[in-house]
Amino acid sequence: MRTPTQERREISVRGIVQGVGFRPFIYALAQRYGLAGLVRNDAEGVHIEAEGSPEGLERFLQDIEEKAPPMAVVETVAWRPLTVRKERDFRIEESREGTQRRALISPDVATCEDCLAELFNPANRRYRYPFTNCTNCGPRFTITRSVPYDRAMTTMAHFEMCPECQKEYDDPSDRRFHAQPNACPVCGPRTKLLDRFGHDLHSKLEDHILRAARMLRGRAIVAIKGLGGYHLACDPFDAKAVRTLRGRKVRQDKPFALMARDLEQVRELCRVGPQEERLLSSPARPVVLLERQEDNGVAEEVAPRQKTLGVMLAYTPLHHLLLHDAGIPLDPLGARVLLGSPRGTQPRYSTTSRTSCRVT
Ligand SMILES: [Zn+2]
Ligand SMILES: [Zn+2]
Repeated sequence: MRTPTQERREISVRGIVQGVGFRPFIYALAQRYGLAGLVRNDAEGVHIEAEGSPEGLERFLQDIEEKAPPMAVVETVAWRPLTVRKERDFRIEESREGTQRRALISPDVATCEDCLAELFNPANRRYRYPFTNCTNCGPRFTITRSVPYDRAMTTMAHFEMCPECQKEYDDPSDRRFHAQPNACPVCGPRTKLLDRFGHDLHSKLEDHILRAARMLRGRAIVAIKGLGGYHLACDPFDAKAVRTLRGRKVRQDKPFALMARDLEQVRELCRVGPQEERLLSSPARPVVLLERQEDNGVAEEVAPRQKTLGVMLAYTPLHHLLLHDAGIPLDPLGARVLLGSPRGTQPRYSTTSRTSCRVT
């Protein structure tokens, strides 16, 4: 029985609050404070109606500002009183489009530790699946076509979730609850490997990523389509491969950036202090300029006459797999291969949901 001192409030939250696990967060908070009502995305942010004791509502409002999920940026929280409806449950509702379209969309976020662990766990159903993601990581802006941020408004709309993915998506206690790009090898996007003429290199079910990694070790230039456009990649320890890349890009000596698998690998190449470490590991995965270690083996052609190297950490499952494969089976010393990518020429976001590796 609810006491007569119930209140109902309409709460509007603005900022980066869609695609960042905000609705599951609100749902969990409502459970904690015994509130009924609803939450949904609208074209301006997140709309909540919450009903319960005034104390519970106050703590609820405070937590919205103070305990928001890590990827969220709460700009404003505004509320007004509504008439009590004596509801019992709290529910997540379908989005409403509205007339204003002002909701902010999260940028794409680097693969989280939980997803990485699944990616390399042979017992997991997403083992080596290059499009693994969850509420805490993965593509956002790149796949968004419009707001509110719901699957139907993303490039994932035509990938119908398999029963297992749907179960995760519907379960409030799951890391993939309402994760719009949720996918797996059964129902999600797949890779393609094409030659320079656009011909599919494989018709059989062979591992494209392993094959692309071998090609990189064999001096090929591979164009990797990922989030936010293409990276042109080659083996940066091989001067001839880097010269080929420069020739094809018609780029004489502007430095290329390197991509590394982890911080340990970066330390083999450059000096890394605590500040650089924080920057490299931040979710935006920026290219960080670092002082290069002498004799680190990186071809001079990567950054001619420079004392520094631009380095970034892998940020998609595809990168992690490729760097893993390029390093291990072909190099007895361990993971040494990095990817060179043209710095400062990030192409405009592409919204295609299939990834391909093109060998040029
Ligand atoms: Zn994740
Ligand atoms: Zn699935």
